Amino acid sequence: MPATVVDAVKTPYPCPCNCHEVLTLDQRTAGIAALYRFDDAMRGWGQTVLWDLAASTLWRLQQQLADVKWVAVRDGACLHSRLLGFCVHELVHVMCGDPTLPNYGTPVGLPYGVPEHVPPSEEAAYLHRFNQNEARAWVGLAAVAYRLFEIEWPLLPARDVGTYGFAGGNALVEVPAGYRAVPHYDHHHHARRYYALAQKLEEEARGWFTPAKLDEIATKFEAAEAIGRASRPVTFPAPRENGATSPEEARPQRPVRVRFDA
Ligand SMILES: [Zn+2]
Ligand SMILES: [Zn+2]
Repeated sequence: MPATVVDAVKTPYPCPCNCHEVLTLDQRTAGIAALYRFDDAMRGWGQTVLWDLAASTLWRLQQQLADVKWVAVRDGACLHSRLLGFCVHELVHVMCGDPTLPNYGTPVGLPYGVPEHVPPSEEAAYLHRFNQNEARAWVGLAAVAYRLFEIEWPLLPARDVGTYGFAGGNALVEVPAGYRAVPHYDHHHHARRYYALAQKLEEEARGWFTPAKLDEIATKFEAAEAIGRASRPVTFPAPRENGATSPEEARPQRPVRVRFDA
């Protein structure tokens, strides 16, 4: 049976931010309650969240098969800053697309490729809309976490900058069948160009989170949550119970490392 959100909160990982020590029990409890609510809402939209550690590998496999059925959030990161950060990032993606479609309607061969029917002259324009969504998911963590969960501690994104497909440049990566690789600016090889473009996109994205937009997000979230809560696959223990579990208690042995080629 695949791991559930309950398995994830029962086995927290140690982290450089030292969440377990820095946050109070009330805050940790709020963090776990937020993870439960995310899980409920995703189920309410008909999405399946993979809480397994191998989730990112499985997601890449699905991507290569161009058939995304699951949402992957876990990667060995700590619960309260990273895992919750991933979940809120995902929620913003949901809000930018159709919550009920695989990958919320975003074609899986993006952002370094486009569907074959898109002419080369329109690659940049095609990718721009999805880059905008990614930028929103990148900059919206604090605003959305506060509006939905009243969480005020900093949530961490996966890296220092979002994953964008900026046409131009000469980097190419493999894309799934049905897509064409787009020569793009890579964030290692064309760092200055990439970060300048990313910064512009992220500045614009901040303006998307108006009070009215945040209310709209909360309304949609709560509606999905109510549906998902009614069909939990297992009983969720009280959040406070697991909020007290420290990474050391939960994990007497070293975590198993999952390797995959990025
Ligand atoms: Zn942490
Ligand atoms: Zn994203």
